[in-house]
Amino acid sequence: MAEILVLVEHVEGEVKKVTLELLTLARTLGSPSAVWAGPGSSADAKARLAEYGADKVYIADSAEVSDHVVAPKTALLAQLVSSASPAAVLVAATAEGKEVAGRLAIRTDSGIITDAVGLVDGPVAEQSIFGGGVNVHSRVTKGTPIFAVRPNATTPEASTGAAAEEQVTVTLSEADKAAKVVERVKQEKGARPELTEAAIVVSGGRGVGSAENFAVIEKLADALGAAVGASRAATDAGWYPHQFQVGQTGKTVAPQLYIAAGISGAIQHRAGMQTAKTIVAINKDPEAPIFELADFGVVGDLHQIVPQLTEEVDKR
Ligand code: FAD
Repeated sequence: MAEILVLVEHVEGEVKKVTLELLTLARTLGSPSAVWAGPGSSADAKARLAEYGADKVYIADSAEVSDHVVAPKTALLAQLVSSASPAAVLVAATAEGKEVAGRLAIRTDSGIITDAVGLVDGPVAEQSIFGGGVNVHSRVTKGTPIFAVRPNATTPEASTGAAAEEQVTVTLSEADKAAKVVERVKQEKGARPELTEAAIVVSGGRGVGSAENFAVIEKLADALGAAVGASRAATDAGWYPHQFQVGQTGKTVAPQLYIAAGISGAIQHRAGMQTAKTIVAINKDPEAPIFELADFGVVGDLHQIVPQLTEEVDKR
């Protein structure tokens, strides 16, 4: 079966959910080989990759791989493309993943498709364009197809793989070492789950009214153990940080429950949340487009409804 390389995204030794999604997609194309770059590989991490179908795990567990930003990861993948001749390479369409994918395409003289939302036999990538209004299928016609797939594009499904381990030594050129990591500042990890991995997301839009008023959204999120999201209107106004923006130019989320408060439901916002299992909209305008998408809608002022909802949740 054709080998499909999957670059593992990991934080502090833990495999991120998007990698499990990529392994699930890779199985539709062939035999997935996970590629672990940097320190922190462990028996637990390997078991997790095996659980989602990795037949092979290439491990380049050296500090040097993570000490020079993204270039060594590109070098590692380029080395494996040359030695293993995979049928495709999958990376997460995160900021780092897309940079690795772009550099890899140049290095291996291959075609690349970014922001894929699915893969079809071929290998052909599915992309969602015009804010989710149109889906297109695209094929790479040159070199080894490289696909950067958006997180939450698919649901990870377990399937046991052999996870045969192969240690790899990456040969880095002087150019690969040109940028060096001089300091790592740990991002403050709040009590809330990560936006793209959360089971529940509570998002606020222009209807929230101000940065201070976002406390109302945060209180409901904390009562539900949810992540907080925001529309672009709210992030552009400086009411909430841009990293929490949901939508076409923000993050894609696919939680079990998405609560949109004071969000009209513009197509660019929908593009980032329309695959949520259950959508609840709170909006004072009964004609707001978000109600076309919502499973449950509450027409009213969010400043009255959201605190009441929080109070009810807190009682349970
Ligand atoms: P509005 O559209 O102004 O809606 C506010 C809603 O709040 C209204 O429906 C109103 O009835 C309701 N409301 C007001 N007060 C209350 C209240 N007290 N109680 C209850 N409801 C109330 N947008 C994104 O979100 N994410 C993106 O990634 C994104 N990318 C974009 C990319 C491009 C290229 C472009 C052109 C636009 C993009 N946008 C994106 C912007 C998008 O088009 C909308 O402008 C934006 O989503 C609107 O945000 P909103 O729903 O919060 O604000």
